Amino acid sequence: MAKFQLLHALLLRQGLATADQLHQPLPAPRRWLELVHSRRYHQAFCRGELTASEQRRIGLPATTPLVRRTWLAVGGTVLTARLALQHGVACHLAGGTHHAFADHGSGFCIFNDCAVAAAVLLAEGTISRLMVVDLDVHQGDGTAALFAGDPRVFCFSAHCASNFPLRKQTGDLDLPLADGLDDAAYLAAIGDLVPDLLDQVQPQLVLYNAGVDPHRHDRLGKLCLSSEGLLNRERLVIDACLRRRIPVATVIGGGYDELKPLVERHSLVFRAAAEQARLHGL
Ligand SMILES: [Zn+2]
Repeated sequence: MAKFQLLHALLLRQGLATADQLHQPLPAPRRWLELVHSRRYHQAFCRGELTASEQRRIGLPATTPLVRRTWLAVGGTVLTARLALQHGVACHLAGGTHHAFADHGSGFCIFNDCAVAAAVLLAEGTISRLMVVDLDVHQGDGTAALFAGDPRVFCFSAHCASNFPLRKQTGDLDLPLADGLDDAAYLAAIGDLVPDLLDQVQPQLVLYNAGVDPHRHDRLGKLCLSSEGLLNRERLVIDACLRRRIPVATVIGGGYDELKPLVERHSLVFRAAAEQARLHGL
């Protein structure tokens, strides 16, 4: 949990965020959660009543601070999406728990924050079509399953084919990548694809999972990107959106390493967002 505070401190120190640019979310209300998750599941999680196998599948102990963080992170993704619609780009210091399904969590994910944000904005009628761009090294399987057959949400995931989850779900577009892919090959794989998809789908909002686990030093990811490669990826995605006047909300997604290098990697999407916002006159 320390990484969230460290990321906050780093952004302030580097001038990537100023106090007036920071917004504090409220925990998501239950009615938002229930657009995506079953009441049985979220109540069992909050009351510490998940079965041992459900707990194991998540891989985190359900402590009181974790329960609080979980509801707050979902509220934060909804707020980030709203701020993106207002300002063009907005970045969440948490979020990206894309392995959560309607009735169970998995892979360190409890609630699917991007799915809840999408469902809230669609239910309110704020937007009618959006795209999830998920570049975490792991497939966004929960998100793909939750929106299977829903034409309002286009789920794109580019992920390492041999990484978790073993059994992949079918999104609107899945791009499985080979182990060991480096910066050049990775950026070539998504460089035309992301802009082309935005032209085809014409979403009113992009929810971008900028997981940093494709980094070569990540303990779980099997891709081989450098920090510069990740930064160029963030520039590419955000620039492609802003060029088309498509608002983009980013979430930090996964990353597994020592805290210091990890937090620096998570800061890259904020760096790219600040830079692209300037370049596009936001
Ligand atoms: Zn991941």
